Amino acid sequence: MNSDEPASKASDVRPGRLPEEQITANLSDMHPPLTPSEAIIDADRCYFCYDAPCTTACPTGIDIPGFIQKIRSGNIKGSAHTILSENIMGGMCARVCPTEVLCEDACVRNTHKDRPVRIGLLQRYATDPIFETNTQLFGRAPATGHRIAIVGGGPAGLSCAHRLAMLGHAATVFEPMDKLGGLNEYGIAAYKTVNDFAAREVDYILGIGGIEVRTGVGLGKDVSLGELRKEFDAVFLGFGLAGVNGLGLDGEQVEGVANAVDYIAALRQAPDKASLPVGRRVVVIGGGMTAIDIAVQSKALGAEQVTMVYRRGQEQMNASRYEQEFAQVRGVSLRLWSKPRRLLVNAGRVSGVEFESTQTPGETYVLDADVVFKAIGQKMLSDPLRESAEIVELKQDRIVVDEERRTSLAGVWAGGDCVFGGEDLTVSAVQDGKVAALSIHKFLLGK
Ligand SMILES: Cc1cc2nc3c(=O)[nH]c(=O)nc-3n(C[C@H](O)[C@H](O)[C@H](O)COP(=O)(O)OP(=O)(O)OC[C@H]3O[C@@H](n4cnc5c(N)ncnc54)[C@H](O)[C@@H]3O)c2cc1C
Ligand code: SF4
Repeated sequence: MNSDEPASKASDVRPGRLPEEQITANLSDMHPPLTPSEAIIDADRCYFCYDAPCTTACPTGIDIPGFIQKIRSGNIKGSAHTILSENIMGGMCARVCPTEVLCEDACVRNTHKDRPVRIGLLQRYATDPIFETNTQLFGRAPATGHRIAIVGGGPAGLSCAHRLAMLGHAATVFEPMDKLGGLNEYGIAAYKTVNDFAAREVDYILGIGGIEVRTGVGLGKDVSLGELRKEFDAVFLGFGLAGVNGLGLDGEQVEGVANAVDYIAALRQAPDKASLPVGRRVVVIGGGMTAIDIAVQSKALGAEQVTMVYRRGQEQMNASRYEQEFAQVRGVSLRLWSKPRRLLVNAGRVSGVEFESTQTPGETYVLDADVVFKAIGQKMLSDPLRESAEIVELKQDRIVVDEERRTSLAGVWAGGDCVFGGEDLTVSAVQDGKVAALSIHKFLLGK
């Protein structure tokens, strides 16, 4: 850390870098919905493959040709039912799935001469009316009398709770935050989920009934795993990754150095986006979805210069090529094969970062910065499991589960970002919650 930078590097961080209407336009829907005629044209492009590779590529196994066929025949409600019966967050997934590496990548029309069927947008076309009209497509089976504790109200927990409710069980969701939705509510980029869609989807999920919600309650703080195991017939852990990886540099606590996820959460919750302080020059360290999102949103809020710096090459970035290009089109610069070596500090605030080449050790350069965002991944905080850490098996600080999402502890299941070996995607968390619910159901029936 260097504390005697020249005064000319005085930081420039302030709200209202752009007029409010410009910010609203910049954060508007990334992929506006299809019109009915566009939807029909795209649905007509599907070959309705018998052994559909897109369905195999979808982590929740949605019958994609089946729902597209229903769009073609005008049965939009039936199409939504096909989607939501496999993936209750099919509305959010239609907006946030990196389809370019999932279903659309597998589409047989995805050749160098052609383009894939726009599965994500068709999925949105079919499901949007259900959420707009709050039409319940699923009911509850007769009550079984079994009670399940769900720890965490994110995609994994809500998916599990909904499936359990469908099967007639009573689910209780424990969530420390005021709102449910997890990263759908506090993490996903604003331009992917406009008009409070995350909250509407949560309302829809709870609308099935049989799901009790206890907000302001965190495992490990207000309630222990032992207590939940005593009180409930089964427990599902879906508490995500509450910790953030640090850079390991001196001065990480200085003003101007921030966790990307914290800023994104503030941005998602701010009623007036123009009120958020924004740096003129922003440096983002990381190469995943979070890095892309904070970089693009900083630009949208009016940062003049946004540079994303990643330690390896474009091929190795966690963000897909599509996302990288999206960021570049939105004005974000990419610097590759560089790692941060030193934070430069002026009058107690960050003023820049010195980077070192990872290809030519010793070669350095400096990027001036008013704000530096850390976006090098999140980690699980094992505090919630403290009391039983010796029993719930962890690997690389995440929970080990089998193919039914059972943990090493009897009667305890887990899913979503907090488990080892997952993909850290909304759609995978939804699948984990569903699979765990089906396994819990089987276990309870045999009890
Ligand atoms: C910035 C960002 C952008 C992303 N963008 C995308 C994207 O575009 N597309 C995509 O597919 N994926 C994206 N992801 C990943 C996706 O959001 C996650 O994979 C998904 O939300 C995981 O769901 P989850 O339920 O496991 O965890 P979470 O969504 O993190 O939910 C966990 C819930 O548990 C609660 N909790 C935490 N601690 C406790 C406790 N002690 N007791 C009880 N509850 C607790 C939390 O408050 C939260 O509500 C993004 C992630 C980030 C960080
Ligand atoms: S849930 Fe995601 S991966 Fe699955 S079909 Fe829909 S958009 Fe594709």
